Amino acid sequence: MIMLHESNGIPRVAYFSMEIALDHDISTYSGGLGVLAGDTLRSAADVGLHMVAVTLISRAGYFYQQIGADGNQIEIPQFWNPEQRGLRACPAKVSVNIEGRTVWIGGWEYKIRGQGGGTELPVILLDTDLPENAPEDRELSLYLYGGDATYRFKQEMILGIGGTRLLQALGFHINKYHMNEGHSALLTIELLQRYAYSYRDLRPGESAFNLPLVRSKCIFTTHTPVEAGQDKFDYNMVQQVVREDFIDIAELKKLAGEDCLNMTRLALNLSEYINGVAKAHAVVSRQMFPSYRVHAITNGVYSQKWASPQMAALYDQFLPGWRHEPEQLQRIDQIDKEKILEAHHQAKTILFDLVQKLTGKTLDLSLPTIGFARRMTAYKRPDLLFSDRKRLRAIAKKQPFQLILAGKAHPSDYRGKELISELHRFIQELADDLTIVYLPGYDTQMSLSLVSGVDIWLNTPLRPMEASGTSGMKAAFNGVPSLSVLDGWWLEGCQEGVTGWAVGGVEVGNEAEDIADLYHKLEHVVLPAYADSQQWIQLMRGAIGHNASVFNTHRMIRRYASEAYKL
Ligand SMILES: *Cc1c(COP(=O)(O)O)cnc(C)c1O
Repeated sequence: MIMLHESNGIPRVAYFSMEIALDHDISTYSGGLGVLAGDTLRSAADVGLHMVAVTLISRAGYFYQQIGADGNQIEIPQFWNPEQRGLRACPAKVSVNIEGRTVWIGGWEYKIRGQGGGTELPVILLDTDLPENAPEDRELSLYLYGGDATYRFKQEMILGIGGTRLLQALGFHINKYHMNEGHSALLTIELLQRYAYSYRDLRPGESAFNLPLVRSKCIFTTHTPVEAGQDKFDYNMVQQVVREDFIDIAELKKLAGEDCLNMTRLALNLSEYINGVAKAHAVVSRQMFPSYRVHAITNGVYSQKWASPQMAALYDQFLPGWRHEPEQLQRIDQIDKEKILEAHHQAKTILFDLVQKLTGKTLDLSLPTIGFARRMTAYKRPDLLFSDRKRLRAIAKKQPFQLILAGKAHPSDYRGKELISELHRFIQELADDLTIVYLPGYDTQMSLSLVSGVDIWLNTPLRPMEASGTSGMKAAFNGVPSLSVLDGWWLEGCQEGVTGWAVGGVEVGNEAEDIADLYHKLEHVVLPAYADSQQWIQLMRGAIGHNASVFNTHRMIRRYASEAYKL
């Protein structure tokens, strides 16, 4: 085979993810999973890991969010053009067989350049929008998480099977395959076929598949703490879609479940290393999948992206080296209190300018400001703070504060969209006593403005649904403490009164207790702490020194490299 890439001969880890956040306005991500993928790859490039990433091009994106007059979400396609963004078309094409048609798959290469002497990491974006394909197949790489189950399954064939074939056609030498969530698990089927024994070497009844060999190459990170969240496909549909270059359905059932094709099950059965995204999530995953060994590598965020430019400049000046070794941030006491407060004040000003621009409302820079922004969906409970609006109003009257909200709901998440409307009603209802704004069009750029410009980061998910959560980690890089339910990463990050505060206990599903504790903490602990600048600066330092120094993707990727990839 010709080397299409001079450097492709280096053994690499292939990182597969349905979504990767490459840039805020390249809509190849929907939320946390994609942001994590992007941050992971940036750290991998910085520390010099040889990796290549694979995802779908999603030319029409996820969607751009607008909010109508009555708080209804309006979804607008967010097209982007790889050529206009300077991406190079890959010099090879491969095909997969879908419903008896040959579907051609090309790719575009986006380069992540490692900082501080790192390496260059190619990201291959798979594209079926080629003139040789049937019109319906050209649309297969168009929408991220769009369409029905059949559309989704075809996309997962493109990602898992097509992606693996394209890496080979491009001459990449892959020694490990990392599946970021189960969407790409069909890559294991492609590997089983690639490394199958020849029939001449088999005795009657023996399987041609070399499971141990494929397993030794695969790593699986699960992100879903509930059965209902797993990708599952009906075998009748699968049989309609796959053709001769796919394994026997009877063989597939042994690997992916008898009742339906469960992508999580398939990935679990064919991965040597399996991990959850926080310690508590690994415990839940072990209960869900008792016969598998589930490790825990807790998520992180990419330091350089999630510290505001003002904070990063301070760290550069007083803790040089933090970009490569975020552990340096443990020495945050080296930085003068006034300087930290000033950097935060600047970030707050920038955020409030954005609020003014987007909503026409002017917030008060002197007031404590709480932020809540994430995917709008039932388990995140964005309405928990509004459970008792009389109480909330009374607290705000006594100790004024303000609230900034943002987040998109998946177009088919009916309850998520309803929650956005409800929040808009609460905003109007409370307007006389509490200023609340909802920013439309949440994306990674807005996320940085929010996590760096607010004073307190709020998170109130239903346990144990928050596998990890990452926005609180981003806040920590900006000296913003979290007020959060003890779930996901916060079980590891929370030191009461030092890095932030816990809401409720560790028991599952006690909503009344969560609500009571949330109001109690807000009224008697958090808002009074803000009023005492000495206490507040220690909290800011606590978030940076104890949380940001740990919950970053540099620590995470180094653990993956040694424990999962075994490099
Ligand atoms: C960080 C981020 C998320 C994930 O936040 P969680 O706290 O994990 O829910 C989602 N969307 C965007 C745009 C982000 O930047």
